[in-house]
Amino acid sequence: MVGNDTPYSLFISDLHLCSSRPVITQQFLTFLQTEAVQAQALYILGDLFEYWAGDDDVDDAHHQAIIAGLHRLAATGTNIFFMHGNRDFLLGQVFADATGIQPLHDPTIIDLHGKRALLSHGDVLCTDDVDYQAFRRLVRASAWQAAFLATPLTARKTQIEILRQRSELEKSYKSESIMDVNPDAVNQLIKDYDYPELLIHGHTHRPALHQLKVDGHACQRWVLGDWYEQGSCLRCNATGCSSHVLDQPNS
Ligand code: MN
Repeated sequence: MVGNDTPYSLFISDLHLCSSRPVITQQFLTFLQTEAVQAQALYILGDLFEYWAGDDDVDDAHHQAIIAGLHRLAATGTNIFFMHGNRDFLLGQVFADATGIQPLHDPTIIDLHGKRALLSHGDVLCTDDVDYQAFRRLVRASAWQAAFLATPLTARKTQIEILRQRSELEKSYKSESIMDVNPDAVNQLIKDYDYPELLIHGHTHRPALHQLKVDGHACQRWVLGDWYEQGSCLRCNATGCSSHVLDQPNS
């Protein structure tokens, strides 16, 4: 474990917070008040929410509790960075202003306690899933988003629910390998960003450390875990990174 006197950063993703799983939301709020308070920075690499229909949904009680927790953490001096996932790419400026999170583009290179680390949600790396990549291009276009956000909030939630059900159905007959990252896409990204020492991403829900060698350069690819059963995080300081699984919360 990293000592409390050593500066460290935390990475989380794929929490998929929703009001139907209150114990996970509670675990997240506790995490913010304990481990995250001691951290120099907290990086949320996408899919904080099960879905985000638009910033006009900030008044929802479940959302308000999370906003308050993030705001409290930001006020203590921990830098909170946020990158969009495929579930919450509509999260916008109103949410950022209410919480104090600092938005990050996907991908972003950071100086992680002296090492170059490339951060991504990870869905762009799943290039074998051609249908998903086409869908991603569609919904990430600003014209599509403007048109979607112009429809009433309730209609958007209904639409998202239909898309989620279709996505679950498609996942059931897509092979495991199609939904994982494509190795060539990973290598190309590492190359494009001039061989960072670390690549940290989530999305696939397959937490692991992969030791890569790209054109002779060593790169650690850390895959973050999801928060479906319990929380988990990656802790990094100047000497390296380690993954931690939080205790399973009592439901
Ligand atoms: Mn995702």
